[in-house]
Amino acid sequence: MRESERKDIASQLKRYLSSRRSVWGDIAFRLQHRAEDRVDGTIADENVQAGSKFLETKAEGVKAAGKEAMESEMKAADRAQAASHDEQPNIERSSMGSNEDYEKRLQGKSIRYRTPSTSFEQASLFDDSAARGDTFDLSGEDLDSLAKRVAECRRCPLWEERTRTVFSNGSKRARLMFVGEAPGREEDLQGLPFVGRAGKLLTKILDSVGLARDEVYITNILKCRPPNNRDPNEEEVRACEPYLARQIELLKPVLICALGRVAAQNLLKTNASLSVLRGGIHYYNDTRVIVTYHPAALLRNPHLKRSAWEDIKLVRKIYDEEIAGEE
Ligand code: SF4
Repeated sequence: MRESERKDIASQLKRYLSSRRSVWGDIAFRLQHRAEDRVDGTIADENVQAGSKFLETKAEGVKAAGKEAMESEMKAADRAQAASHDEQPNIERSSMGSNEDYEKRLQGKSIRYRTPSTSFEQASLFDDSAARGDTFDLSGEDLDSLAKRVAECRRCPLWEERTRTVFSNGSKRARLMFVGEAPGREEDLQGLPFVGRAGKLLTKILDSVGLARDEVYITNILKCRPPNNRDPNEEEVRACEPYLARQIELLKPVLICALGRVAAQNLLKTNASLSVLRGGIHYYNDTRVIVTYHPAALLRNPHLKRSAWEDIKLVRKIYDEEIAGEE
């Protein structure tokens, strides 16, 4: 073989080998990358797994913290309730016996309030008739004429901003009366008490112990809405309370349930807190009064519902006993 031919074959072989090397090199490169991909993938998978585990742990932590917070809230509520029972008439509802039993246990610890007669001259800052020295006498009114008197009332400045007065809702023959604080926006528009969200909850609460709204009587301390649903002030309560007094006089309920602090304090003429007043039996003249949360408070703090449920069961129990005693 000639030298030139040999060089040519060597060069072709070199190119061939070089090309083979490049093919293998390419394969090796790809394998290397796949391996790296796998490694990266594994790492990424591990990261994802670790990440989700971290998030799960976090979520469990949040859940546990929430549960703990809820439990501690419940315990605090229970402690407050227990404390109020220590201070006030303590009724073990599950083991409540006859009327005499719990009367004995109360032994003067309940609050009694005697309202003045509805036939009296009441000095008022706002009422024209009072300015003229007329007697503010409601003793001749029945529930219908009383509602008309309320609809025309200007005894306090709340008349100026009201849309409608809110007199009552329910049966005129009811023996169980619920008294709230004052009308809210929805009540002011409709002229009926407890028709907003809180009212719907009240209906459910009544329903839970087998009471329909139309077999009880529902009203408020004030018959007109205070601006922005603020608490009623002293003058407003003083001006409006003869209407409630006459409602109670006419209805003669066997039991009154005060819904919320404002209703309870004004009905019983006390500054005692709601936690102190709950759980006891108090008196408005000779009518028993039980105090519970306002449904709006239950909407704001659903954990209070358990205590409210105890209160409404007590209402039902005493109401049944009173009615049975009359038969
Ligand atoms: S709140 Fe009572 S006292 Fe005041 S204007 Fe209305 S009905 Fe009259």
